[in-house]
Amino acid sequence: MKSNVLEAKTRDRSNDKETIKLFWRATMRYKRNVAISALLVTANVILLTVVAPLFVGKTLAALAIPDGEPLRYFVLFIGAALLGIVFNRIGHPYAMAHQAIVARDLTERALTSLLRRSVGFHNDRVGGKLVSDVLDFTAAYLQMASAVFIDALPLATTLLIGSAIIYVESVPLGLFITIMTVTIIGLGIRTSIQMRPRRYRRLEAGKKMTAHLADTITNVQTVKTFGAEDRELREHQKLGQIFADIRVEDWSLISRRGNNRMLILVIFQALFVLITIWLVRHDPALLGVGIFAFTFTITLSNRLFTVNQLIRIIEESLLQASPMTAVISDQPEITDKPGASELRIQGGQVELQNVSFRYHDADRNNYVFTNLNLTIKPGERVGLVGPSGGGKSTLTRLLLRFDDVTDGAILIDGQNIADVTQTSLRQHIAYVPQEPLLFHRSIKENIAYGKPGASPAEIKEAARLAHADEFINKLKDGYDTIVGERGVKLSGGQRQRVAIARAILKNAPILILDEATSALDSESEVLIQEALWELMKGRTAIVIAHRLSTIQKMDRIVVLSEGKIVEEGSHKQLLRKKGLYAKLWSHQSGGFIEE
Ligand code: ADP
Repeated sequence: MKSNVLEAKTRDRSNDKETIKLFWRATMRYKRNVAISALLVTANVILLTVVAPLFVGKTLAALAIPDGEPLRYFVLFIGAALLGIVFNRIGHPYAMAHQAIVARDLTERALTSLLRRSVGFHNDRVGGKLVSDVLDFTAAYLQMASAVFIDALPLATTLLIGSAIIYVESVPLGLFITIMTVTIIGLGIRTSIQMRPRRYRRLEAGKKMTAHLADTITNVQTVKTFGAEDRELREHQKLGQIFADIRVEDWSLISRRGNNRMLILVIFQALFVLITIWLVRHDPALLGVGIFAFTFTITLSNRLFTVNQLIRIIEESLLQASPMTAVISDQPEITDKPGASELRIQGGQVELQNVSFRYHDADRNNYVFTNLNLTIKPGERVGLVGPSGGGKSTLTRLLLRFDDVTDGAILIDGQNIADVTQTSLRQHIAYVPQEPLLFHRSIKENIAYGKPGASPAEIKEAARLAHADEFINKLKDGYDTIVGERGVKLSGGQRQRVAIARAILKNAPILILDEATSALDSESEVLIQEALWELMKGRTAIVIAHRLSTIQKMDRIVVLSEGKIVEEGSHKQLLRKKGLYAKLWSHQSGGFIEE
């Protein structure tokens, strides 16, 4: 708890300026809408809180004068009030519509930034938390925009115009209003500063609770497998209780301050009445402005007390928007060089030249590869094998440019992959991961993802070649079956075959395949093998091979151990060598190489 407060007090405010800049730019893309809504909303507030009360004062004052025209002022009062209502009727929806459009743009901006971030960035984060960061970012904008445009701006304008009118008629009354304004705003700012650490603490507690919720729900299968529902619920209760305690304390504080506020208001009102009586005694002509000033004071003081709420809303919004602002303003890990060209494929030769690599979060000297060299000829099928942790997956990540090499270069048909656009690079590579994840969409859409706009016949043909057609046809909704989040409604083997069909449809010249290590029934095994061979036809293929049947048929096997190529050659050559490969092979079990 204590550390929470500390954390909260020293919160990083460096993103605030950036958030304001982002929100401001997004708002100002629609200058005309901003001008119209600001004008309408402000006019509405001025008419209702300045002009209408002014005419009420004049109406009453006219009663006291022999040839005063109370009716005229009364009509003017009604007119101003009605016009105010009309402006309100038009202005608010207009302002809201503008804010909705800006919020839409900001969500788009957030998604664009998230899509630009590297796979590594996303692997380091909980997906659900990022989703809530995007929603928070937009919600923060909406709160801030409404605080500024609907509350602060009209309040400031009203204050200026109202006070000016009063000053013109009576300086003492004007002074009184100024003193009252300064006092109440001062108190508001003080309260807001006092509440700041509590506020951060509450937001911090809320954030922890949300992160736990997102983590639990994302991993619901693991929770259930371990029968840990109660454990997670208890953890949630603990976090939820901290949050609730802070809220209860805050509310009691707020209600105490509410009482103080009423007291201050009554004091000001009493003082005001006394001053007005004294002034009107000396100059009866001041009755009108006195009455106006009184109504004005009451509405104004009530609104002024919301200043600390405004500050609170703005601070909370800035805090809420901060994680997404960081994502938007940080440079993505992997970027296209300015003027990067498109990758042009001739035969699909892949070359690693003196490649060194270490993960950005690894120790300085903890290199996965140092000066690794490897050339894969066009159309060659290379199997990567070796003990776990040897660098096989890292190598495939580098080829796809999910990470950049620390040193050296990877060339495809003579072009450095760091010099071409990421999109063109990945367009020419079909990647089938070990555990393919599918979209929560229909099988048809999942397969067609490899070729947008593919015809039903093409989709079916790809599925047939991948041996997926058989099982898809048995599903109740066939190709229209929705596969569940990440494809959970399909078996591992079925998911793989859908992923293979997708890769076949993509028809890329280079194939990177991480074979599944999970055991499949022998029928699926045979079908997947056939599908893989179909997929490899005529392509340069790099396969992290776990299955004996796949390995034997490879043109070349590269044995990677601790980031180094320790052996390479055909299956037979390597067996004869009696080295690491022969050892791995002799440990084979159930059709798999034991890593
Ligand atoms: P393999 O696929 O052969 O099992 P990997 O390429 O997964 O091997 O791992 C190679 C080395 O890189 C291992 O020491 C592993 O701990 C490390 N490594 C893998 N992924 C990351 C990561 N995201 N961050 C830091 N180190 C990693």
